[in-house]
Amino acid sequence: MASRNRKKNKGKERKAKKEADRVEAERKKVRDLWLDWAVGLEQLVGKHIECHHGYKKYIHSRGFSHDHPVSSFMDTIFRNLDEKFGTICIRDEFDSHPQVWNDNSNKMIAINLMVKIGTSMLLSNKYVNQVRALTLARSIIILEHYDDDGIDMVINSRQVQSKIRDLNGNAASSRSRDLLKFYSKRTTCIKCLKSMHQEARNNMKMGLCYGCTEKKERMTLSVCSRCMVAQYCSRECQVAHWPYHEKGECDILVSAHKRQQQMRRINKVSAEGT
Ligand SMILES: [Zn+2]
Ligand SMILES: [Zn+2]
Ligand SMILES: [Zn+2]
Repeated sequence: MASRNRKKNKGKERKAKKEADRVEAERKKVRDLWLDWAVGLEQLVGKHIECHHGYKKYIHSRGFSHDHPVSSFMDTIFRNLDEKFGTICIRDEFDSHPQVWNDNSNKMIAINLMVKIGTSMLLSNKYVNQVRALTLARSIIILEHYDDDGIDMVINSRQVQSKIRDLNGNAASSRSRDLLKFYSKRTTCIKCLKSMHQEARNNMKMGLCYGCTEKKERMTLSVCSRCMVAQYCSRECQVAHWPYHEKGECDILVSAHKRQQQMRRINKVSAEGT
């Protein structure tokens, strides 16, 4: 009886070991992928990039210690990168990585790595990589704005939502003006994106109508006067979308804005009081 139990346990152990090996192999694959991007590897970018876009420090990112909080944060980002197109991709990573969100130096490392990777993705000129750069850009915006207000308030704030909206407006074009501007502003190297950005500056600023979801010149769109985020190409589109917009997105954005204003006032009063 005892020996049979031992055999059974051995079997269980083997199974658990196999599962652990599989998880570890998977993790390593993801880890290698983002490290390769951080170095700007030729087979990913399609050409050799010598520039580190101002983030030379991270050329040796392979030296990142295995258990650095930013490493496991980047693992999750990259594991989900291709599935999270069109969504707020970074919300799920919040609870599991407090050491990145609440530590400014870790947060900066993560942002810098993502900017470096996103810039190389834009340079690759492949559509799929433009989409990845856009997904990364959304995460960067949220990380940059994150403060004590709490994650959901930051995600639903006017500033963050309108920045994300404008990036999305050009999502499908390969020479996205806003995306190029986004990364150009954040890299300290001037040569890499410069010509692409200059070229794209002749493109019109585009935006998506929240109603008909068509892409229009941004200048012709008007914005919802309540939330100041949703934008429409016509009165008809806004009226038709209102029943869906009001009790969903618009209410969430408006209440986030009110709470934010309230907290700012409280902070101001308590700052003046001290
Ligand atoms: Zn560069
Ligand atoms: Zn429309
Ligand atoms: Zn609205």
